Amino acid sequence: MTRRDRIAEPWGARTPYGPGQTWPTRVDSFLAEGVTADGVDRWVPSASILHSNGDAMDIAVKDGRIVGVRGRAGDRVNHGRLGPKDLFGWQANGSVDRLTRPLVRSGGRLVECDWDTAMDTIVRRTRELLAEQGPSALGFYTTGQLFAEEYYTLGVIARGGLGTNHLDGNTRLCTATAAAALKESFGCDGQPGSYTDIDHADTIALFGHNMAETQTVLWARVLDRLAGPDAPRIVCVDPRPTPVARAATVHLAPRPGTNVALMNALLHEVLDNDWIDHDYLDAHAVGFDQLEKRVAEYPPELVARICDVPAERIRSAAEILGTADRLVSTVLQGFYQSHQATAASVQVNNLHLVRGMLGRPGCGVLQMNGQPSAQNTRECGADGDLPGFRNWANDAHVADLARLWNVEPQRIPHYAPPTHAMQMLRYVEEGSIRLLWVSGTNPAVSLPELARVRSVLAQDRLFLVVQDLFLTETADLADVVLPAATWGEKTGTFTNADRTVHLSEKAVDPPGAARPDLDIFLDYARRLELADKDGRPLITWHDPESAFEAWKECSRGRPCDYTGIDYAMLRERGGVQWPCTDEHPHGTERLYVNGEFRSAPDDCESYGRDLSTGAPVEPVEYRALNPSGKAVIKAAEYLPPHEQPDDDHPYSLITGRTLYHFHTRTKTARAPQLRDAAPRVWVELSPHDASAEDIHEGDSVEIRTPRGTVRAAARVTDIRRGVIFLPFHYGYWDTETHTEPGTDGGRAANELTPTDWDPASKQPIFKTAAAALRRIARGTGPAPAPTVGACAPVGPDVAPTRGGRAAEAEEDPESGIEERQP
Ligand code: SF4
Repeated sequence: MTRRDRIAEPWGARTPYGPGQTWPTRVDSFLAEGVTADGVDRWVPSASILHSNGDAMDIAVKDGRIVGVRGRAGDRVNHGRLGPKDLFGWQANGSVDRLTRPLVRSGGRLVECDWDTAMDTIVRRTRELLAEQGPSALGFYTTGQLFAEEYYTLGVIARGGLGTNHLDGNTRLCTATAAAALKESFGCDGQPGSYTDIDHADTIALFGHNMAETQTVLWARVLDRLAGPDAPRIVCVDPRPTPVARAATVHLAPRPGTNVALMNALLHEVLDNDWIDHDYLDAHAVGFDQLEKRVAEYPPELVARICDVPAERIRSAAEILGTADRLVSTVLQGFYQSHQATAASVQVNNLHLVRGMLGRPGCGVLQMNGQPSAQNTRECGADGDLPGFRNWANDAHVADLARLWNVEPQRIPHYAPPTHAMQMLRYVEEGSIRLLWVSGTNPAVSLPELARVRSVLAQDRLFLVVQDLFLTETADLADVVLPAATWGEKTGTFTNADRTVHLSEKAVDPPGAARPDLDIFLDYARRLELADKDGRPLITWHDPESAFEAWKECSRGRPCDYTGIDYAMLRERGGVQWPCTDEHPHGTERLYVNGEFRSAPDDCESYGRDLSTGAPVEPVEYRALNPSGKAVIKAAEYLPPHEQPDDDHPYSLITGRTLYHFHTRTKTARAPQLRDAAPRVWVELSPHDASAEDIHEGDSVEIRTPRGTVRAAARVTDIRRGVIFLPFHYGYWDTETHTEPGTDGGRAANELTPTDWDPASKQPIFKTAAAALRRIARGTGPAPAPTVGACAPVGPDVAPTRGGRAAEAEEDPESGIEERQP
């Protein structure tokens, strides 16, 4: 057993292993000062809430309070390891400023009330709007952090009960492109690959995915492969000098907004060198001819000029990808939140289809998620899809849902695709959505172009309901605020980025009168007397387990089939990967093992979209293209970003996150170790640009775009020239103004970002704004940025980030590498 400062060393000690071996176990734990493992009253099973990795853990409870966490050695996802946010984030639950009673606006102020008053106010307004304007006056904007049971209930209320098409999650900002790319290529959402593919891969390619900071435990798995025999080669595409880039065999740092051009050049080389699995392609895919024609237009020399990446480096990367025997690719925000998001992400799928690298150990695509239950938001129909990955444009799928819910099919809106979040905001702005219910997310900091977002949410004619743990910037604008219970205070299931379902059990009571989100939604449905077509209650469940059973029925026969899973199984076995059915009672490690895709016209979740315009593909067109359910290879031409640097705004601004925080820091800034590791906003720029602007490390800098300004301390890093980076975590809840920029300027990155989104996935674009930069004052010391991760300084004069004794966690490595046949 060793103790290690896990702020300074986020990935912990190495436990090397080789290809085909099982990742060794290492159990990480952190307990509050003065508490020992022997003194813990109970250990309650759960998994991580502050990222998408799904690290299984036990919550330590003493005297009715959470006092720490411990990784679960036997779980398939993390083999006992925990990351810094897992180890320290739980402390936010016990914050003194948790919301403990509902609030309603009265005389311009939010005042405490009881649940009856709050819920009756919401129900009254719902009824008025239904009578005046119909269901389209109602919008619901949820998150990627609730449980499957909660999303499913919300989905049934909105789509089957109220009949509104306006329900989406903040997953729109996060993983809408993952879902869109999977649907375009394979006909349906669902990760083809598995984390265990890391154990077998000889090549791992990370496309816009800073895994080291977004999924620290998965990166520890990669680091352990790199430290073992026959280490995999790494290809990294990222404009920042991330830890992934530093570990890479080849690092490509393209200009922001040029991912499609780069992917086309890589595919050009793969095709030119005939690194193609022709048998696989012939048997399992359609559309190769168009790809061949399209990528022929993108030789490396041409693309080198578009992306500003050496042609030779493109060739080297292509050779690694083209000659790999076992290739794992992962994709995240560098692609998803950038220009041509879906088109670029689809090219990663194409790479795997062309190379026949799917459905075998070590061969998989992980179109990653960001949030712990983003997958559930998507599969349960609480975002822009119908539950169970049903196709809104397929009348048979709608009829199937109507049968399940015992409502008329016309009740379920399917006249158009479900409304995406950016469009919902537009409807609020225009006044057609008059009630917006926001649960577990903070759009007043996380959506682009914040000045506009604040003005839209603050309108008098909007009735805004916010359900959260804290009085966030968004809650401050609400008409009714509902105090929610969180992870550890309620029970439910969530599914991580490789389809692993975990049960998270209630460990302690929520504070004050706070209630689980499920109870709040059930209460709303009950008070509204939502009924099926026979007048019986629409919602027939009453607690998490009965909600899970209802969701299972909805998933039956669909690609995300949960029917073989129950709470008892999850308690006994820990994480299980869907689909899990009578036929596959232990779950399914990899999808598409036989090259059979869920893309047949009657089965698919989507008929797809035009990648350039977003126009839906007509069912007839789709049937003609894909009669037998093969994978679809979709080519894309490169189009320049809408907003490009010019003389007035010479820099490309990209936003993103740091290892130590999550979203708008509502939880991570309330955990002292995480807060202190990255306490205030900074901006990253290259040494060349720093010198051109006469900016030194720590100087106070103003960043300006046509939307607004932000002030931040300069951090000089090895980021590519011409690009500046702002972390998006910093809002205003812990400033004097609480909701908006003060007199000394803004600090939320989204003051600067444009209202613009990908045509296919509708994901907002956070990575191609053009910005200006100027120094406003000399600094008195280094920027308050961590030295760990992509924001590592180039200069030697910055003290390394440490957490000290307060951040020491225990690591218990167990030896013994098991041999396993791939
Ligand atoms: S930080 Fe980004 S990737 Fe992570 S969950 Fe949030 S939006 Fe998704």
